[in-house]
Amino acid sequence: MEKIPYDEILDIQRKVDIVDVISEYLHLEQKGKNYFAICPFHDDHNPSMSISKEKQIYTCFVCGASGNVFNFVMNYEHISFAEAVLKVAQKAGIGLSVKNISKTIVKESKYDKFYKMFEIANKYYQNNIKTVYGKAASDYLNKRGITPAEIKEFEIGLSLNDNNVNKLLKSKGFDESDIVDIGLCGKKDNFIYDTFRNRIMFPLHDSTGNVIGFSGRIYNGEDDSKYVNSKESVIFKKGKLLYNYKRAINYAKEEKQIIVVEGFMDVIRLSTIGIKNVVATMGTAITKDHADLLRRLSKNIILCFDGDKAGQKATLAAIEVLEKIDITPKIIRLEEDLDPDDYVIKKGKEAFLNHLKNPMSLLQFKIDIEKKKTDFNDYNDISNYVNNIAGELEKINDKVVYELTVKKISKETGLDVETINSLISNIPKKERKIITKPKSIKKNKYEKAEEYLIYYMLKKEDVILLYQNKVSYLTNKKLAMIAIKILEFYEQKHYINVTDFSLFLQDEDELIKEVLRIDGLNMPDEVDDKVIEEYIKTIDEGILKREIEKTKNKISMEQDTIKKVILLEKLATLKKKECK
Ligand SMILES: [Zn+2]
Repeated sequence: MEKIPYDEILDIQRKVDIVDVISEYLHLEQKGKNYFAICPFHDDHNPSMSISKEKQIYTCFVCGASGNVFNFVMNYEHISFAEAVLKVAQKAGIGLSVKNISKTIVKESKYDKFYKMFEIANKYYQNNIKTVYGKAASDYLNKRGITPAEIKEFEIGLSLNDNNVNKLLKSKGFDESDIVDIGLCGKKDNFIYDTFRNRIMFPLHDSTGNVIGFSGRIYNGEDDSKYVNSKESVIFKKGKLLYNYKRAINYAKEEKQIIVVEGFMDVIRLSTIGIKNVVATMGTAITKDHADLLRRLSKNIILCFDGDKAGQKATLAAIEVLEKIDITPKIIRLEEDLDPDDYVIKKGKEAFLNHLKNPMSLLQFKIDIEKKKTDFNDYNDISNYVNNIAGELEKINDKVVYELTVKKISKETGLDVETINSLISNIPKKERKIITKPKSIKKNKYEKAEEYLIYYMLKKEDVILLYQNKVSYLTNKKLAMIAIKILEFYEQKHYINVTDFSLFLQDEDELIKEVLRIDGLNMPDEVDDKVIEEYIKTIDEGILKREIEKTKNKISMEQDTIKKVILLEKLATLKKKECK
């Protein structure tokens, strides 16, 4: 994303009050200096979110959600940071800045002409299906249970064998080369022809609602390819596109859940039975970009890919990407290798709703896969089965779930519960708490020193300078990033305070959260230089200690005697340093 100039953001932020803005979304109660609300970012029953008028910051002490006024609007409305800035500016009636920001949002205005071309083509196709030429196509759709309501909602259209898109776009002054580049037309021996002919047209929209491509399906006669898709272009990237994203935003918010399917026909089919919080990956593997978009819709994600082997593989791949951003999806597997579209046609609405009400946990899904591979009459198979799922069992942190799962496996395999337990190194001891507070893992003194240093860097210029001169790096990656950003901010602005610094971080939600968490630590405001020096010393010790551990590990792994000697020498030098 292109960054909006910091000064503009600051200017807007100074002109609005976070309390006014949030009160448009939530009911606020004043208690002392602060305001409180039911947190919209977790399943909250008591007001857990506090809004500080003084700092212009919101923080939820249960789920850890926090940020400035723009972060709130961005996260609440599931829009980009730039869009949130624009929205807040409009609320505040700030005209001049809005113009500049709109430019940033609409950015790359050089792509405007491409969006226009797709829009014109989309309107043309949509009109075709309503004419007499479209009768066969709309009959075909109706026969497949796609009613005029879906045709309208999903802007389904029809391409004819008339080469009219090419003519239409040229008559509106678009360049032939652009029309070909963007994939609406092809060119052969100086002859320009429409890419899509005699196909039912499904427009593909980007996350802000612009049409950026089409998928065209045959409906009469035979063709080698059932579907033809627009080629990738400067505006159409499959790895960034989720079909139906824009329409699904509000439904996902209502249902507090988003369902992910593979194909756009699955989305349309589920819409016919009233399920509208659905997006499709268009048959590509889920990317990091997809995952980020999904997280904006809801953290409660259900993967409902095709029921076949390929669908299972795609599900596993998607799980891996989602787990990297701390999302544990639930899974629906459909019987008889069916995709959701065919499933609803063949088995009906109730059967699908039943799946939706009882999605599988990730654990269940993974155990199921292993189970299918196992012959429970074969001892070797059983041994493999238990060893393969041991890793999954280790991840369970709910004692009840753990015990029930192990009992079930014991029954299946005929193994003692103790034998299975002996394979697991991390058996949960406590029942999971219903409210999961932000994890307060015990931190060692080195980690604490890094946090405290950041705490004072956020408040005192001389600590920033001390950091710059005396600290080489921090071992905690997030804190290291924050330190770099503080230096950047200070170099440009020559001052520091937490609120303005959070504006500087723009849409880097995770960093902002961490900054505000550290800012909320209970520490004395005034601090002696000696204390800071002590933190820095501890941090250096930590780094040295880690280096020593690493070297020791290397030594134990090293086979080559000469290399081992070199490592031992290094270890000796490090240890000497440690003693100083
Ligand atoms: Zn919360």
